This record gives sequence, C-alpha cells and structure tokens, in this order.
Amino acid sequence: MSHDSRKIRLIMDLRNQGVIDTRVLSAIETVPREAFVEEAFLDQAYANQALPINCGQTISQPLIVGLMSQALEIGDRHKVLEVGTGSGYQAVVLSKLARRVYTIERHRDLLAQAEARFKKLQIHNITTMAGDGYKGWPAQAPFDRILVTAAPRVVPPDLVAQLSDQGGIMVLPVGDPAGLHQEVIRVRKDGKKYHSERMFPVRFVPLVQGVPEEAGNTKKYR
Ligand code: SAH
Repeated sequence: MSHDSRKIRLIMDLRNQGVIDTRVLSAIETVPREAFVEEAFLDQAYANQALPINCGQTISQPLIVGLMSQALEIGDRHKVLEVGTGSGYQAVVLSKLARRVYTIERHRDLLAQAEARFKKLQIHNITTMAGDGYKGWPAQAPFDRILVTAAPRVVPPDLVAQLSDQGGIMVLPVGDPAGLHQEVIRVRKDGKKYHSERMFPVRFVPLVQGVPEEAGNTKKYR
C-alpha cells in the first residue's frame, strides 16, 4: 500500500479516536511522517504507533500527537514552546498551527537531525536550542502555549512561570519515568492563577534533567 493511502487511513483512525479539530487533522495530513522515521521503519511511517529514533528515544504515536495538539487549542498567532524535539515531527505539526515554534532538545545529535529535516521541508518558523528544557527558554518567554513531549515526575515550575498569564495553556505528560503511571495534564493560566486538568493515560520517555556528557564537547549549551 502507498504512503498516501496509509495516510488517509491513519487520518480516519485519528478522527474515530477523538481528534476532531480540522486544523489539527489537516496539519497531520500535510506533514510527511516518513521524513522523520528511521529507514528501517519506513513501511510503518503511517502506522498509528510510536517508533524508535536515535539516542534511545521515540517519535510519538500519531494519535497522541493529534490529541495533545488538539488539547493545546493553538491559534495561528500563537508562540509555542516544545520541550523534547526528538525527530522534529511534533514541532513541524505545531509549526503548521502556530505563528512560531521554539523547540528544545537535550541530545545534540537528535537536534542536528531534526534541524536538517526542517531545512529540507523548508519550514522557516521553528527556532531550536540544545539544552535542558526542564528550565524552559527564559529569554523567549512568555509563551502562549507549551507542549512537553517527555514525562517529568511533576509539572516543572519554570515552565508554568514561562506560560502567558493571559490564557496560556500547557499540555504535558506527568508521571513515573518507567512510563507505567503517566497521564497527560492540561494547565490553564489566567493572571497569576492556574489550574490543571487530567486528560488521558500515556507512556512517554522520561524528561531527564541536565544535558548529556558528550565526548570531546566542552561547549556549554546555555
Ligand atoms: N516530540 C518528539 C518526541 C520526542 S521523545 C517527536 O515528535 O519526535 C522525547 C524527547 O525529549 C527525546 O528526544 C529526549 O531526548 C527529549 N528530552 C528528554 N528530557 C529532556 C530535557 N530535559 N530537555 C530537552 N529535551 C529532553
């Protein structure tokens, strides 16, 4: 079966499983997921499942990308922060929905691969940084929307602080690093007040604090 017909089937699946926002569905339809998976998994690019990428990480399941993007209620004027660039797939989906996307990844190798994909696909509204996304991106704050695609144990306070206090929304998985008890939380912030709501169970790789040691690289990220 061709990528195109698998993609049509995937979009129908996502709709049946609760992704009903037409902007989100068409963003997913527009982004070629095959450009973000490893060669060995090309034939599974449009299967509704997470797939392994470099550095022991994963590209998220399309259903989860759809549900989390929808939960963010993104408008086309919004400035969005993503923590956990990984393959870059979710960042590109966000780039179709928002004005500008800032994305942070702790693994330099993954970030370099993702940047090459953004360039090849001619996506010009994504800004990247290698570093620890647990601390957010203070120089670019506040953000209208924040999406975290790795699971911390608790909601990172710096990210709440960097969320716009005029209706800012953050969506993130929270729970144990092994992935057995995690769920997606949505935080809404108005003024100095914020409240969170539990959405659905998930299984993400852990949000790891700090940046990895890389041989022969003493450059500080931040
Ligand atoms: N959004 C990605 C999914 C990435 S998996 C995609 O669409 O492919 C989660 C990613 O979060 C991994 O690449 C991992 O390296 C990264 N990560 C984990 N902890 C981090 C941290 N503290 N700061 C930045 N990135 C982090």
